[in-house]
Amino acid sequence: MNRIAAGEVVERPSSAVKELIENSLDAEARRIDIELAAGGRSLVRVADDGGGMEPDDALLALERHATSKITSAADLEHIASFGFRGEALPAMAAVSRLVLLTAANPVEGGVRITVEGGRILGVEPAARPRGTTVEVRDLFFNTPARRKFLRAPETELRHAQEAVWGAALAHPEVEFTLRHGSRTLIEAAPTTDPGQRLRDLWGRLEGPVHRFEELASGVEVWGLLAAGGGAGKPTLTLIVNGRPVRDRLLVGAVRRVLGVPGTGAGGARVVLFVTVPADEVDVNVHPTKAEVRFARAGSIFAVVERALRAGVAASQGHVGVRRVETPQWVAESGPGPEPTGEVAAIEPPGSRRPLFSHPAWGEEAAEPVAPPATWRAGGHPAGAGARAAAPDTPFGRLIGQYRSSFLLLEDDWGLVIVDQHVAHERVLFDRIRGRLAGETAPSQRLLEPLLCELDEAAVDA
Ligand code: ADP
Ligand code: MG
Repeated sequence: MNRIAAGEVVERPSSAVKELIENSLDAEARRIDIELAAGGRSLVRVADDGGGMEPDDALLALERHATSKITSAADLEHIASFGFRGEALPAMAAVSRLVLLTAANPVEGGVRITVEGGRILGVEPAARPRGTTVEVRDLFFNTPARRKFLRAPETELRHAQEAVWGAALAHPEVEFTLRHGSRTLIEAAPTTDPGQRLRDLWGRLEGPVHRFEELASGVEVWGLLAAGGGAGKPTLTLIVNGRPVRDRLLVGAVRRVLGVPGTGAGGARVVLFVTVPADEVDVNVHPTKAEVRFARAGSIFAVVERALRAGVAASQGHVGVRRVETPQWVAESGPGPEPTGEVAAIEPPGSRRPLFSHPAWGEEAAEPVAPPATWRAGGHPAGAGARAAAPDTPFGRLIGQYRSSFLLLEDDWGLVIVDQHVAHERVLFDRIRGRLAGETAPSQRLLEPLLCELDEAAVDA
């Protein structure tokens, strides 16, 4: 039974690395040391300084479905801890020579349990600082058919290393080291800066690491982009709700953006942190929780794609676009103060009308309001100098209009483009907000009352 389960949970050495690291993280380790030999084929050892286990619990942990992490079926809906199936340790023990050395309370002493092919060979007291070390040797030694599927040590090492990268990026606050034989491959000190963690993991990383982010429809995406040497496929490390996972859909999104010839993004490294509400992502589709299923895959794809495009643009050093917030005065209704000074002068008479005419406004724009005189080209002293003259609007000095849609202005930093349509919407938005804040709004009683049933929450609202 355990051997069959082992095929699901433990595919190759990297799966052992992943499961053991997750257990260490669940045990709140601050430091995790990983050691491999022959790409993990002959040895995977993970040592942590987490909570450790009492000897009885340690024995129990090697039994199938012993998990300390789930108490009700409802927990499955909001899986917060990494492990919950209670089968990783028994599965690994079934197909390897495994040693579990652990101490929860070093004063009382720890325990060393030796297992071979699922049979417990020895249980003995052992000393260890608080924490746990699990050693998995000769993976699949007793299932030759599976062993045959293991690849060359370099390939297995690459997979194992990726597993460490994922966990280390998801948890920059935890110290990680990875050793392969006599070589130290990763030495990542705890940090609060994921960008620093990225550098620690990919020592050969040259050039800057760009951060990008996007928040839309309940999906929060942020990431790091390190441009590659211009050749090779982009690599993606994906972390969803704090859990490193694989997802073909999002790999597709990355390829779509970075695979475009001419972006110079070949060989780029991308780390994506995606946060979605727990009930919108199913992490239970894969036995090792390595794959996820999104309830709204389409919108996540779109947000990731947009975020990444922004990241690429930033990495290419594009011109920064400043957002100029509409100042409060445009929201003020009723007759404004007498135009005094240059800023006030731009408030059009009767601000309940559109500020500027726009073909797309339809009905409401039936009587477009002409820009105040001061806005017209002749209205200000010919700005012949290279430097913008004193601004005649809060956005700068008006220099023209493009396609009856955009106002072009200049200020000391450069060109300012105002989308008239959006500006108008903003005016309406501020006006509505003003009403919500207590201004009187026009309202009308219904001729016949309309009955609707609401629950308490809605009534409160
Ligand atoms: P799961 O992680 O799904 O609970 P595992 O087989 O991976 O199942 O682990 C079984 C149990 O052993 C865990 O629930 C936990 O109580 C304990 N355990 C495993 N690894 C560690 C560790 N590194 N430190 C402390 N406890 C651990
Ligand atoms: Mg586990």
